[in-house]
Amino acid sequence: MTGLLSAVTDFLVTWVVHATIISAVALAAGRWAIRGPRVRDYVWKGALVAPVVTSLVALLRFDGAGVGVLHLPSLLRTAFPVILPPIAATLRVSAEGSAHVIAAQMIEPLSMIIRCVVGAGILLPALLAMTQLLRRRRQFRDLLVTRRPISPAVLGVQDDAFRSRTTLPLYLSVCESIGSAVALGRREVCVALHAFAALDEMERRSVIAHEVAHLDRRDPAWIAAAQALSSLLVVTPLVAMVANRFQCDAELICDDAAVLQVGAPLAHVRALTAFAFALDPAAQCGSTFASIDSRIMQRAERVLRRDAEKRHRWSGALVAACVCTAALVSCVLLPGVSAAPRPVTAWSGVQSSSSNASASVIRVTVKPR
Ligand SMILES: [Zn+2]
Repeated sequence: MTGLLSAVTDFLVTWVVHATIISAVALAAGRWAIRGPRVRDYVWKGALVAPVVTSLVALLRFDGAGVGVLHLPSLLRTAFPVILPPIAATLRVSAEGSAHVIAAQMIEPLSMIIRCVVGAGILLPALLAMTQLLRRRRQFRDLLVTRRPISPAVLGVQDDAFRSRTTLPLYLSVCESIGSAVALGRREVCVALHAFAALDEMERRSVIAHEVAHLDRRDPAWIAAAQALSSLLVVTPLVAMVANRFQCDAELICDDAAVLQVGAPLAHVRALTAFAFALDPAAQCGSTFASIDSRIMQRAERVLRRDAEKRHRWSGALVAACVCTAALVSCVLLPGVSAAPRPVTAWSGVQSSSSNASASVIRVTVKPR
């Protein structure tokens, strides 16, 4: 049981450290080096998933001697020698003579304290953040409970506009509790009936193409996973920043896909602004067509400037391979972090001894090994 708790704590600490380092590198690359949303998309996904893998690998690499592991108690003792003095140990000597060796194994007393503090410091905020996330998702589900399926033809959407790049059949539904449109699960697009009906045909096609692009990219699942990861690792806000940037870039990529498919950037911007003015309660809970987080002005300017990313410059497979390589390198480079009590053996050879009638004095130098 103690071993399991120790492993869980070490995994959590290592995960937080790895996620912070990898998120910082990804955010810096996304800010200064990588311009295209499609390339950044791979970087964000890698930055969210890779720390789980690298920390598991680091955990499996742990050995009893703690080689290649950042040992938190030792680091703290080195950093704060005044606050955390060296461990004092009393050695009981049972024999004398230069041939004898005194040895005793000491347990690091800081380990239990650090494990409790770090474990609670990570898990309690995570619990609160996950509770908030689940509450938002339940509100979102409640908003959508009144939705009903509808034929695309009834909403003036032609069949060819409502087709996935995958072979999965898609479903359209309407709901008055949301203000715009949203992709749900693997195959469903839900729109607000009146707000959607008020759009002209090209605007409707553009909205549908945007949401279908979300389904093709499996964004609902990725966004849910990103939100869950950023809630679990709420102690390191860089993960939430990566999740946010991922969501923003997903909107830009789907805008590009809609403009490419429909060929009407102005209609797309009109749909964005129309939905932006609609009160959309669902935008507080999920990623809807024109949610506040989606930076509508940036999206509209981008669509109108026609600087949608050139698709051919970087192939998805190449970028994915680069991100996987970076994750593998991280597995090798990033050390594990442990608060487990590392066994330290103090030992000494007896250097000299003297005795009188009442006492025996033995001179030793104690060294850890
Ligand atoms: Zn969207």
